[in-house]
Parts: sequence; structure tokens; C-alpha cells
Amino acid sequence: MALSILHRSSAPTAGTPVASCGMRGCGVRGCCCADRRQLLNGPNAVTVVRTVASLILVTLAAVQHSWPLLLAAYLTYWVGDSADGCLARWRGQESRFGAVFDVVCDRINCTSCALVLLMFVPAPLPVAVFLFQFVVVDLPLTLLPMRWPVLSPNYFFLVDRLAYTLNWHVVAKVTNTTLLVLLLVFVPDQRVALVAASAVLCIKVFSLVRVLRLRLPADRAHVTPPAAAAVRSAPARA
Ligand SMILES: [Zn+2]
Ligand SMILES: [Zn+2]
Repeated sequence: MALSILHRSSAPTAGTPVASCGMRGCGVRGCCCADRRQLLNGPNAVTVVRTVASLILVTLAAVQHSWPLLLAAYLTYWVGDSADGCLARWRGQESRFGAVFDVVCDRINCTSCALVLLMFVPAPLPVAVFLFQFVVVDLPLTLLPMRWPVLSPNYFFLVDRLAYTLNWHVVAKVTNTTLLVLLLVFVPDQRVALVAASAVLCIKVFSLVRVLRLRLPADRAHVTPPAAAAVRSAPARA
């Protein structure tokens, strides 16, 4: 603990070359220096299992034209998707590889489930808008935070709070993956789902443009939270 305080107070000033070795654990939660670079760990195994299990269930749902199987596929995807993240945080096994792997697997599960959903709820337009948003706009948007030295998009509040709140806050993520399905199943008027999907698309396009225009940091080894940057640039206390 004392070490991390020392470490933080001896953070390099602008222009000082960053010593990449020995900088592990700068004390900022979510900084990429905490990346354990593990490909084979529990959270990634959960991601593999939930992706494959959901894919099998959704295929069976399509073949047997069974909505309970589609529900099981969705639940496996939703529960598994939060379980891998929770396990990673709980065991301190968050990694940049795991973050990207999770994002890609989400697209596989979400797209396959949405396409089979069309067999039961014929709503091609809302589903098309949603899939365009989720795959064409949200996939690159969610990979962009990896240009910064953060562990995952879940820590993008260290860089830009508005983009984080709109896209990677837990409420935003749960809304983006469940809203369309719930509206299509429970609201008879499909225009409601179409309006919601279009609104989310607008937010995603706005976020993509915003994150693309953010300035990249000079220090690629550690993330500098806005508060720490303010402290650093303030005059030294006596
Ligand atoms: Zn996940
Ligand atoms: Zn760091």
C-alpha cells in the first residue's frame, strides 16, 4: 500500500520517458498496467461456454421452432455475459484480451438470437435497425476504448465520462442488449421497438463520433484519470 502511494507520487511528469518495467500496479483501478495477459482463465472459459451453449440452443430453437429454447438461448447469453465479467472482477482477472473476446462473442450470441427471434416475432425493420447498430456501429465503438491504456471499456470513465455513461455503464449495457427483445415481445405495436432502436442508433453514432474525436494520451503505459491529472498539474503542496 505504501509502495503504491510512493509509486503514484513518483509518476513521471510530461516529457519524462516512462519506465515500462517496474510500473505494474500504478494504483489506478482499470489501468492497463494491471493486465495479467492471461488467455486461459476462468472468466474467458465462461465466455467460451456461454457462447457455444447459447449457439447450440439457438440452433435447436430454429430447427425445432421452439420459443422456450430461444428463451433459454437468450438467458444463457445474458446470464453468461454478466457472469464472465463479474467473475473477472471478483477474481482480479480482468484483461484486455478478455474484454475484446467478450465483445466479439456478444455479437455472435446477440446476432444469432435476434435472427431466430424473427421466426417468432416478424419485425424485420426494428431488428434490422438494431443489428446495424449493434454490429456496424457499436462493435467498432466498443473496441475504440482499447486505444487508451485502460483494461476494458468498463473503465472508460477514466477517459470520458459521457461516452462511458451512455455506452458502458451497466444500465446502458443491459438496456442495449435487452430493450429491443422486451419491447418486441411485450408491446404489440412494433413502431415502439422501431423508435427505441432508432434512438439507440442515434446515441451510438453520436458516441462513435465523440470517441473518435477524443485526443489520444501521450502516455500509453498508464491511464491518467482526470482527477489525478488535475492533482499532478496543481502546484506542489508544502
Ligand atoms: Zn461479458
Ligand atoms: Zn497504471
